[in-house]
Amino acid sequence: MKKKNVRALEFLMENDSLFSCPICHFNLSTTKNGLTCFKNHQFELSKKGTLFFLKKLPKTEYDKEMFLPRGRMIQSGMYAPIIEKMSKLLDKNGTTLDIGCGEGSFLNLLTMRGLEGIKIGFDISKDGVYEATNQPIYENIFWCIADLTNLPFAENSFNQLLNIFTPSQYTEFKRVLKPGGKLIKIIPEQNYLKELRTAFYPDDAQKQDYSNELVVQKLKDEMIILLDERISYSFEIPKNNQLDLLEMSPLEWGVSEEIKNNLKKQPLSSITIDIRVIVAEFA
Ligand SMILES: [Zn+2]
Repeated sequence: MKKKNVRALEFLMENDSLFSCPICHFNLSTTKNGLTCFKNHQFELSKKGTLFFLKKLPKTEYDKEMFLPRGRMIQSGMYAPIIEKMSKLLDKNGTTLDIGCGEGSFLNLLTMRGLEGIKIGFDISKDGVYEATNQPIYENIFWCIADLTNLPFAENSFNQLLNIFTPSQYTEFKRVLKPGGKLIKIIPEQNYLKELRTAFYPDDAQKQDYSNELVVQKLKDEMIILLDERISYSFEIPKNNQLDLLEMSPLEWGVSEEIKNNLKKQPLSSITIDIRVIVAEFA
């Protein structure tokens, strides 16, 4: 099997027109070990075949300890109905950008469901992106570390953007989407992971609740909504994954050790998934 950085270099040779320099915004072109711009800003491939487009490494708690259990939960089928729905909405041969790809599970499962075009996933977390390079499918997929607010991609590059439980930056989205390109956004609804919220924060009604009102309003201000559908179901968590649920999201941060330990002894066996899938385009 080819090394990851060799595969990645081949991807860049075919697709470097999708990238632009995050420092000076000129086009990037392939060198013998990465990308460079007209002003000679260099981006070198890591051994894992990833590119690093940040000015410095951010402080983030989104690390391996979260991405590994998150990946296992996604693989266990927790979001299967959502992946099914998304795969019907996507342009199968379109060029796709996954915004905040984490450990890459969603993009990989969508690829298994027939998403065939060129795909790039990025995240601000290096740990997440490094894990993504271990995903089983790698043809036509490239992973990089980048900042949502300063995308290292050229104008009019993508047919579709995936925005799965991640923040938005509409100015940048508009710049990198092709005319008529789509945003497919997944946001939590009120009852999303409600059993976990209640267990983690028994005395904090505010944390038990979730409202997506502001997120939806912002989206409506910026884009035209083509589809807006709520998907709700209860997921029976396989025994082997019940501890993973506790570690897979930022919800866990700030939970007391006592509560965590009690939950580890008696983990949740089912969990509510309640989300909205929204497809939108710019006017
Ligand atoms: Zn540059």
